[in-house]
Amino acid sequence: MPETLVDAYGRKLTGLRMALTPRCNLNCIYCHHEGDLVSQGEISAETAVAIARAAAELGMRTLKLTGGEPLMRTDLEDLIARMPEGLNISLTTNGTLLAGRAIALAEAGLERVNVSLDSLKPEVYRNITGCRRGDLQRVIDGIAAAQEAGLEPIKLNVVVLRENEREIPDLIEFSRQKGLILQLIELLDLKDHNMSGDIERIEKSLQEQAIRVRTRELHRRRKYFLDGAEVEVVRPMDNTEFCANCTRLRVTSDGQIKPCLLRCDNLVPVNTLDSEQIKALLREANARRKPYFMK
Ligand code: SAM
Repeated sequence: MPETLVDAYGRKLTGLRMALTPRCNLNCIYCHHEGDLVSQGEISAETAVAIARAAAELGMRTLKLTGGEPLMRTDLEDLIARMPEGLNISLTTNGTLLAGRAIALAEAGLERVNVSLDSLKPEVYRNITGCRRGDLQRVIDGIAAAQEAGLEPIKLNVVVLRENEREIPDLIEFSRQKGLILQLIELLDLKDHNMSGDIERIEKSLQEQAIRVRTRELHRRRKYFLDGAEVEVVRPMDNTEFCANCTRLRVTSDGQIKPCLLRCDNLVPVNTLDSEQIKALLREANARRKPYFMK
C-alpha cells in the first residue's frame, strides 16, 4: 500500500494539479495563469511523467492537467498514455481545440474534462476571452465531442464576473439540458480590476432552491442539487475552511512543485528524472504546504 502524505497541518495530500504549458490560444481578462506568471518554458513530457509516477507512488490518486491551454501541446495524448496506472486523470481546457481530439484523449486514458465557458453570448464570450469569431461554437462542439467520447462527468467552469452574473440562470439551464455539472468559481482578482460578480448572492439563491446539498472532501466545496441540475461553488477567497481542506500540490508549466496557488515563495524545482529524488522533492514540497487563509 503506498503511503499517504500528510502535512504539518494534518492535511492529506491526494492530488496533483499540473500545468503542461504556459501557452494559450485565448487571453482571458482575469486569468491567474495558475499562479505561474513567470514561466521559464515548458515542462518536458519525460519530467511530467516522472513527477506523476512519483506522485502515484506516494499515494496521490488524482492528476488534473491544466495550462495555459493543455491542448496547445500536440503530444498531449501521448503524454497521457505514458502516465502511471492508478491515477485518475482529468483535464481543464478552454474547449476550443477539443472536438477533434476527444476520442484520442479518452483512448489515451483521460477520464474526464472540465471545460471553461464563461458565457453563452458570443459578444460577452469574446469580451472575456479575446477569442476569434466562431470560437464559442467550437467550445460547444468540444463539449459534445467529449460527451460522445465518454469523458464524463463534464464540469463547466464559470468564473463569476460582473460581465456574466446575470447569465448564471441560463448557464444552469444549459448545464441541466446537456447533463453537465456547473462549477461556479469565485474570481481571484489579481489585477484589482473589480470585475468580480456577486457569488455570495448567487450561492444564497442556490441554497434556497436546492433539493439537496453535498459537501466535498476537497476544500469542503458545496454542491447544490437543483431540479435536474448540479452546481458546485468554489469560493477560496478569505476562506479558512477551503484552505484547511486543501489536499493538493501544483506543478508549474516549467516544472516546479508549487504548494499553493497564492504563494510563490515556496517553490521546489524538479531538476532530475530519478524517481527517489523526485519523491524526496514532493515530500519537501508537502512539508512546505501551509494554508494561505488561516484562523
Ligand atoms: N486554459 C485552460 C482553461 O481555460 O480551463 C486551463 C487553464 S485556466 C487558468 C484553468 C481555470 O482557472 C479555468 O477554469 C479558469 O476559468 C480559471 N481561472 C483563471 N483565472 C482565474 C481567476 N483569476 N480567478 C478564478 N479562476 C480563474
